[in-house]
Amino acid sequence: MALTGLEIFKHLPKTNCKECGMPTCLAFAMALAGGKASLDKCPHVSEEGKAALDSASAPPIALVRIGVGDHAVELGDETEIFRHDKRFYHPTGIAVIVSDNEDVAAKAEKFEGLEFDRVGLHFVTDMVAVKCDSGDAAKFKAAVETVAGKTQKAMILIAEDPAIMEGALNVVADRRPLVYAATADNYEKMTALAKSKDCPLAVRGDGLDDTATLVDKVVALGYKELVIDSGSRDTSKVLADMTQIRRLAIRKKFRPFGYPTIAFTNKEDPQEEIMQAGVYLSKYSGIVVIKAAEKQQLLPLLSWRQNLFTDPQKPIAVEPKLYEVGDVQPDSPVYCTTNFSLTYFIVEGEVEASRVPAYILSVDTGGISVLTAYADNKFSGETIAEAMKKAGLDEKVNHKKIIIPGYVAVLKGSLEEASGWNVVVGPREASGITKFIKESYA
Ligand code: SF4
Repeated sequence: MALTGLEIFKHLPKTNCKECGMPTCLAFAMALAGGKASLDKCPHVSEEGKAALDSASAPPIALVRIGVGDHAVELGDETEIFRHDKRFYHPTGIAVIVSDNEDVAAKAEKFEGLEFDRVGLHFVTDMVAVKCDSGDAAKFKAAVETVAGKTQKAMILIAEDPAIMEGALNVVADRRPLVYAATADNYEKMTALAKSKDCPLAVRGDGLDDTATLVDKVVALGYKELVIDSGSRDTSKVLADMTQIRRLAIRKKFRPFGYPTIAFTNKEDPQEEIMQAGVYLSKYSGIVVIKAAEKQQLLPLLSWRQNLFTDPQKPIAVEPKLYEVGDVQPDSPVYCTTNFSLTYFIVEGEVEASRVPAYILSVDTGGISVLTAYADNKFSGETIAEAMKKAGLDEKVNHKKIIIPGYVAVLKGSLEEASGWNVVVGPREASGITKFIKESYA
């Protein structure tokens, strides 16, 4: 349970020296209890005090790092239950499972290809989980070696026999894989193994109570680099478990659940599997392990993850400037839109598809869409004219014609007045660009 401000105050020096930035030790204690200060701001707390205050100063969900270097995946360290309260910080790791009973090299190569570019962003399937289905230590070790040779991405090793795990872990320990899993039957050996190699450890219980008990046992062995699995596999039960774990960790600071979580899909139908993974990704799995390894299956999941883990207070924007699509010439048409990345990339895609090289002027609206920016006066005759001037459009083209989105046809007059250009009202939807340009610029 979280400590109250008064309980924390008992462990502080009570000298009111103000070095923490607070006027009194009591004020600092209250800030600490509310998660608005960190204990390291007070340089005078005794070692005993630090130990006693650990539960108040530690983040509600520990930060756990799997993998190394550029491909490391960071999980946890979340502070919210609802994204709109602030934001979620560490995107769910999506792991594709590879069984040591299948063609390991082929699946690992396929996994490496699961990357996409969409709306100017690069989407990556970031983890690979190698599972021992054979029960054969040599075969599992060989599978882990093969996968490690094909990808630098973060790994999860899945084997319940500590002896089998040890053989494979020895090969890739320097890659810091997640060791899955410590259970009631093997937790002492698995904990010792993970601890000796400094690798994160997954703890799998059988329901919430059992999981909390098992986590306490592992922590008592001196290891806290943990990821937790409640053991449930039914979609609604996993959803309920994940929700309880997140609530108890954040609202009650219930320490056994203060770690990121892992969930496994079990649906055979590819569409159902992706929907199931989407549920786990939404609430609140740190890692989702899936069987799907086709691009068309992964793209919706990665897109959903990208949406969920952006800062809701900061729209995704492209650089506001003049873009060239295709081999532009002085007589090429000029479109204008906002710098909201989704809008921009949709327009760019349609302009490209029209096969008529063109300029696109992306106006700085703070990354918001056409109608919202218009309503906020950020996409007006004056702001567009200013962007045109800044981009040097007069020197780029030999005409004075600019195309505005159909939804803001009302800007035609003010933009003509502010820029001196002829304003052409384009289609409302970007999908109408090809037809519009062929008819207007034939
Ligand atoms: Fe009290 Fe420590 Fe803050 Fe000084 S720095 S006022 S001792 S809490």
